[in-house]
Amino acid sequence: MAAQRQKEGKKERKKTRRGLTEGNERKMFSGYGTRNPHELYYLQMQRVDEKMEREESGGNEGTRQRLKVCVATCNRADYSKLAPIMFGLKSQPDLFELEVVVLGSHLIDDYGNTYRMIEQDEFNISASLHTIVRGEDEAAMVESLGLALVKLPDVLLRLAPHVLIVHGDRFDSLAVATAAALMNVRILHVEGGEVSGTIDDSIRHAITKLAHYHAVCTHAAQMHLLAMCEDHDRILMAGCPSYDRLLNARHHDDHEDIIKAWLGDGVKESEYIVALQHPVTTDIKNSIKIYELMLDALITFKKKTLILFPNVDAGSKEMVRVMRKKGIEQHPCFRAVKHVPFTQFIQLVAHAGCMVGNSSCGVREAGAFGTPVVNLGTRQTGRETGENVLHVRDADTHNKIYHALELQFGKRYPCSKIYGDGNAVSRIMKFLQSIDLLEPVQKTFSFPPVREDSVSQDIDHILETQSALGIDLGGTNLRVGIVTMTGKIMRKYSQPNPKTYEERMELILSMCKQAMADAVPLNCRILGVGVSTGGRVNPQNGMVLDSTKLINEWSHIDLRSPVSQSLHLPVWVDNDGNCAALAERKFGHGKGVENFVTLITGTGIGGGIIHHGELIYGSTFCAAELGHIMVSLDGPECSCGSRGCVEAYASGLALQREAKRLHDEDLLVVEGMSLNNKEQVNASHLIQAARLGNTKAEGVLRTAAAAVGVAVVNILHTVNPSLVVLSGVLAQHYKNPVTHFISQRALSSAREVKVLTSDLDNPALLGAASMVLDYTTRRTY
Ligand SMILES: [Zn+2]
Repeated sequence: MAAQRQKEGKKERKKTRRGLTEGNERKMFSGYGTRNPHELYYLQMQRVDEKMEREESGGNEGTRQRLKVCVATCNRADYSKLAPIMFGLKSQPDLFELEVVVLGSHLIDDYGNTYRMIEQDEFNISASLHTIVRGEDEAAMVESLGLALVKLPDVLLRLAPHVLIVHGDRFDSLAVATAAALMNVRILHVEGGEVSGTIDDSIRHAITKLAHYHAVCTHAAQMHLLAMCEDHDRILMAGCPSYDRLLNARHHDDHEDIIKAWLGDGVKESEYIVALQHPVTTDIKNSIKIYELMLDALITFKKKTLILFPNVDAGSKEMVRVMRKKGIEQHPCFRAVKHVPFTQFIQLVAHAGCMVGNSSCGVREAGAFGTPVVNLGTRQTGRETGENVLHVRDADTHNKIYHALELQFGKRYPCSKIYGDGNAVSRIMKFLQSIDLLEPVQKTFSFPPVREDSVSQDIDHILETQSALGIDLGGTNLRVGIVTMTGKIMRKYSQPNPKTYEERMELILSMCKQAMADAVPLNCRILGVGVSTGGRVNPQNGMVLDSTKLINEWSHIDLRSPVSQSLHLPVWVDNDGNCAALAERKFGHGKGVENFVTLITGTGIGGGIIHHGELIYGSTFCAAELGHIMVSLDGPECSCGSRGCVEAYASGLALQREAKRLHDEDLLVVEGMSLNNKEQVNASHLIQAARLGNTKAEGVLRTAAAAVGVAVVNILHTVNPSLVVLSGVLAQHYKNPVTHFISQRALSSAREVKVLTSDLDNPALLGAASMVLDYTTRRTY
């Protein structure tokens, strides 16, 4: 049985490698533009040879052993990130063999003897190394690093892991990575590529250059690793492992007990502060001063405060001395503790009225709960933060800190997903399985960094396709689709658009949740949600300003917040006409065209104007309301309340109205056509009748096409595009009359315009998805 599983695992791995190799080839051609074709050919041949060699030598069934993974943990902070990975490894014993090495401040009494957490989590510790030289100054850190380097080789020789996992930017981790790299042990570095403000930066980047594989938390981090010439195929955008637990942790019912246990009776949610300040080793003097000011501010702020002792870095002894001098441990407002178990700590952070200090937990984890944070000094400078963080970079007076506390305390922010979506561990497990032990350990220096267009393609290490959910809210139907980077609709869902706001929102969310669940087996990673809706939209804040009569109860609607909060994804909103134009720009005739216009006919008529490659919105988001271009002074009534708009002549609804009128006068049905009593008369009957020679029906269509023609000529004379794309079910019928109309009625210099019908099946849906795909994959430099 186990052998069978191993075989399957092996097959799976092979498949993964093949996927990667294809990615490489693609990258070679699209990204390495500076290499000449001969060199490219040579590289490609080399890759093919290597691949064949690998497959030959790996050809003996059953030789693949379990992957021996060693996790090295140094303190409570890195353990909080590594523990979820360790649980993941332990849960798949037929694929992985887990070894745990404990060192650094885990084993020191003053820092809470945190190795006990690992024992409590029931991991077997393979080796414990006392590596901390006491003194808490710069020299002691270096000596500690040296001590770790002396002790590690023995352990690595004994355990002989295939892969060693280290986390972050601590000096202990640097020792671990150095030892492993020198001993040819493959290193997976978790949380590389981030930028903060201290010596941590240098250490983190040094570990990156020692590591063979990278599991990063954010898009920006990935970009930084590429800029550091790391191989794109060895970088996994996983998200932060601790977020896997965090995102499920908020709604535990035991938080009241936990708050009581750590802060005392009578302290309620949002009524206390969590303070955690570490020394900044490159600027110890100043960081101690900030610490003193923070304590002063907290004393005057007079809220219950849980304060954690600083970490083991140089300067921490001095900070503890300051704390004792101010009598914090005896002060009635404070609870000073050395260590809080991680699961309880996140509950405390999640429900705090505010968090203050300079710990990475403030800028990272707190964002997941929307807890307000006051970040002091430079320790986290450069880190990506959510809107919940208020920075006090020059924390030089106690007033500044006090004022920041006043601003932040008790607030609630929307949850931020910058650092992860809760699926990091499963991605890392797949990534580890894809590691080919027969590949050379030698790292490659991937220069130059890959170009913009190839980044989005070759991210699929784990065989996931970057995708978006597109939503198309039309006058009749509500559609949701899973759309990939190339514009392929992997799955589509359609329901009648409900008549009330509540029902509509409920249906949108349930359809999206269904699609997100279906995306997993389809290997699509959903990056966000794009919504196309009728009506005027402010795309900056995701509000539907006012809608047409075609969609009820749909004015002054905040469409973004409820969808984003419920699905935990970024949400883009725009109107259907603009979305149709965006779809043409990304997937259709508009690709690479600077100035073009899309006119889409459905139940109503909408459109979008692309000028210099971007949409025109106007001063109040009312530009490109092409359906309401007036083509006559009176004419039929329009849904907008006016008369004579092109929509009132040529939309699906207008044609239906005319078909009904003819039918009521018994003028619609002609020979060769059947229409039973129950069937609703619509535009298609009108078209059918016209084809069969019904002159009345022909006349209606001719008028409709003429109305579109007038509208298009007006558009040509307003924005002078080089292309007009007619989209929607009626586009075919309007194309020739419109072309003819232009040749007759447009100014001669405006006639040089191409008129095409769209090739896209669901333009609004695709355009909605394109907003997500364009923005979430945009390079930052
Ligand atoms: Zn109108």
